[in-house]
Amino acid sequence: MPLDYHSLLTAFTLSGCGLAAAFLVSWLVSKKERFLMAWTIGVSLMAFGVLIYDGYVRTMSPLLGTAGYTVLLVGLAFVFGAGREFRTRVLPWSSMAIMAVASSTVMAVPMLAGYNGAAILVLNVAATAILLITAWDYWLGRAEARLAITLLTALYILTGLSFVPCAVLLLLDGRWILPEIPSNWAEDLNIGVCLTSLAGIGALSLALNQARLARGHKRDAETDALTGLLNRRALLDRITGDVEGPAALVIFDIDHFKRINDVHGHLAGDEVLRAFGEILTLSSRSQGLAARLGGEEFAMLVTGTSLVSAAILAENVRTRLAKRHFTGSAGAFGCTVSAGVARTEDVVIDFDALLQDADTALYAAKRSGRDQVAVSSDQEEFLAQMRSPQDGQRGPIDLIRLKTG
Ligand code: GH3
Ligand code: MG
Ligand code: MG
Repeated sequence: MPLDYHSLLTAFTLSGCGLAAAFLVSWLVSKKERFLMAWTIGVSLMAFGVLIYDGYVRTMSPLLGTAGYTVLLVGLAFVFGAGREFRTRVLPWSSMAIMAVASSTVMAVPMLAGYNGAAILVLNVAATAILLITAWDYWLGRAEARLAITLLTALYILTGLSFVPCAVLLLLDGRWILPEIPSNWAEDLNIGVCLTSLAGIGALSLALNQARLARGHKRDAETDALTGLLNRRALLDRITGDVEGPAALVIFDIDHFKRINDVHGHLAGDEVLRAFGEILTLSSRSQGLAARLGGEEFAMLVTGTSLVSAAILAENVRTRLAKRHFTGSAGAFGCTVSAGVARTEDVVIDFDALLQDADTALYAAKRSGRDQVAVSSDQEEFLAQMRSPQDGQRGPIDLIRLKTG
């Protein structure tokens, strides 16, 4: 049995209310995602607007028509705002206000003056424009989730374009005063498309939100909160996942860090860790992965590099920290770091073995007085370069304070 126009409008209102409830619950679960609230308001207003419009269809009262269309247009402006907020995290209040006020005014004037045909035309044109702008906004943010956002964009375009035949038939009809709401294939198509795409747009928007939350949780689980570096597990995941050898691993351990905490306070200690995290990030940006293994121990994995290059990189990190000045509860202070470097030729990296080698070297650096870089002792390449600086010049090893383990 085909549904009549009123039933379709009622179905739109009910499914809009259901979706608004789903968005409200999602917002309550994750209040940080404020676009969910804008969507809740937008869909609720659209559902309410269609309910009032249904009354207008029955009574043809200009007041009901103006109210229904105004609420619908404000709802559409909120849906546009939610889309923009999803992409930029900022609700575009002024654009939304301009959209809602301009379209409602241009619609309300002819409606209240008795020219309801013109008002319905304005409603159709405004709905098309707002939905196409919303589609464009989503399209701009497609890098976040290509498939879902492409589908969402397509649904917004489809919905927006479904208002066009209604406007065209109205123009062809040429009457500005209508005794009743137009009833033709374009109106039926329009409500059918709106009803279908509302559910699709709602489901995709919620799925996008869930995907974003999941990505955020994964990022949090992989990141050290104090320094923003990868944590130990994330480094291990990368190494066992997509990183291939040959590679060098540098382990850093800040010297006498317990004393820094004891003398200058825990906050000053945290500041040192943060600063060292920055130094590592800068130093490893183009060359490798930096991670905080725990406490005051850090790691840097550099692929496709020689042991000497990795040692020089470690030495640069050491000198950068040595140049920094900090202030704690007992005044200004500086601090130093020791490092151990190891390298593997293997394509599949055995992280535990590499870590063990680097740790042995680090222990040697600590034992030899701290504030220095040491390399794993079984590295022939390194020993050879250390023994024979080229052409009587100082070899790279002479430039830095390195010791073999
Ligand atoms: P060494 O030169 O031999 O490495 O001596 P150390 O004092 O640096 O090493 P030790 O392992 O004895 O002390 C490490 C200290 O790091 C102990 C712990 O309280 C402190 N620590 C661990 N995590 C944090 C943190 O997140 N913040 C601060 N402020 N201190 C931390
Ligand atoms: Mg330590
Ligand atoms: Mg230490």
